[in-house]
Amino acid sequence: ESATPHNKSVAIIGAGLVGCLTALSLSKRSGYSVTLFELRPDPRLESTSKSSKNLRSINLAVSDRGLNALRRVDPGLESRILEKVIPMTGRMIHKLSGEEESQKYALDGKKGINSIDRGYLNELLLEELDISEKKVEVKFGYKLEKVQEDGKISFTNTNTKQQEQFQFDLVIGADGSFSKVRSELQKFIRLDYSQQYIDCAYLELSIPALDNNGFSLDKNHLHIWPRDDFMLIALPNLDGSFTSTFFAPWGLFESKELSNDEGILKFFRYNFPDAVELIGEESLLYAFAHHPRGKLLSLKCNQYNYKDKILIIGDAAHSMVPFYGQGMNCGFEDVFVLTELLDKHRDDLSLAFEEYSQTRVHDLSAIVDLAISNYKEMSHKVNSKLFLLKTKIDFLLTKSLGDRWLPLYTMVSFRADIGYAKAVQISKRQDIILNWIQAGIVGLVGGLGLWNVLGRWARK
Ligand code: FAD
Repeated sequence: ESATPHNKSVAIIGAGLVGCLTALSLSKRSGYSVTLFELRPDPRLESTSKSSKNLRSINLAVSDRGLNALRRVDPGLESRILEKVIPMTGRMIHKLSGEEESQKYALDGKKGINSIDRGYLNELLLEELDISEKKVEVKFGYKLEKVQEDGKISFTNTNTKQQEQFQFDLVIGADGSFSKVRSELQKFIRLDYSQQYIDCAYLELSIPALDNNGFSLDKNHLHIWPRDDFMLIALPNLDGSFTSTFFAPWGLFESKELSNDEGILKFFRYNFPDAVELIGEESLLYAFAHHPRGKLLSLKCNQYNYKDKILIIGDAAHSMVPFYGQGMNCGFEDVFVLTELLDKHRDDLSLAFEEYSQTRVHDLSAIVDLAISNYKEMSHKVNSKLFLLKTKIDFLLTKSLGDRWLPLYTMVSFRADIGYAKAVQISKRQDIILNWIQAGIVGLVGGLGLWNVLGRWARK
């Protein structure tokens, strides 16, 4: 708890994961009165139809970085969330041959990431806002239309269809990848902005629970069926089911091969025979016929604020493809970084916003790029012998050098004290050493092989 000399009225746009945590974090500080606006209806109401709930993955992975940010907002919140997660201590690679290989995330085999239900997490954060000491007003069914330089904001009330205007001191946009606040912000600043849709779509499938909520796969792994150009993954849910996602290039989704039931079954039976058994053929075909194909967007901005008036945060400021499982974790970290700066510059919030823009950009740019490169790792490299050799050397060095050698994945997922950009910088240096050692081992094995052949030839 910290004090500000003023009372600022804050509008947060978007009651997704990041918007809710921002509202909660500010509500715990004196000097802010917070109103949270959300386009959709309250997800906790039974009448809220599935179609207006989030269509993205039902579960997601929360890692140390996200947990650290939650803990900073409220230690009790972290423990409440941890009660409802399933820890995943490694990746389980399912080979085409049917063989399974567990690749632990950490040396002790214990550290892991955590699978959590997206809807549950969002609803828990909304509950926290309701019971928060300084209650945050949450206005559902408000679609942001316009933000003005002076903090005047206009909405369409989706129930009455009427326009409504409000005035706030600060406006924080946590309204996701297609942020309206971001497009309004572009009118006031020279906002550098780039986006790229990667050539990959995703389709959500489901592996049902066994009787009595049993799991049909090891529940403490993130399961991956890597097949070079495409892959299947599965994350566990508390009820014994797994949410599985099929990622593939758009061309494959639209190909003749996957254009009818017979083709889909043939493709899955060949590439994922074990998974088809678990998903069930009927359910697989239902998903292909009825579930949407998700697009994957990678988006970067530079400068996230206009003076001390407007700021964007979470996916609104940086959308990343989901292959490092960091989108939400990074958004939660945004909240923590921002609130630290608001505390630091209590007397001049424009300094806080400026420093946020200037310093955060390096980490955000690094993780957006890393997420793209991890797609290649998950779908392709985890199958390659050279990659596995490099991972083994990486592990051996970690074991012998301890904290002086940290694999990139460890730094990103388990070391909230190391920023994303710093992690990349350290990893680049480690990579040079790894490549030398790897080349040495490959050279030695090759040399021994040649020696053997020459020896046999000489003895002939
Ligand atoms: P959002 O969740 O998009 O929330 C934005 C909110 O703003 C929404 O509620 C929306 O209705 C509202 N809104 C939008 N426009 C308006 C408007 N005009 N007026 C009012 N309200 C508005 N991240 C992880 O950390 N781990 C994972 O394992 C992971 N897995 C993922 C898997 C997939 C397939 C995908 C696509 C993403 C995954 N992510 C993961 C990323 C994660 O989902 C996002 O980073 C996270 O949801 C971003 O939260 P947010 O609150 O910034 O945005």
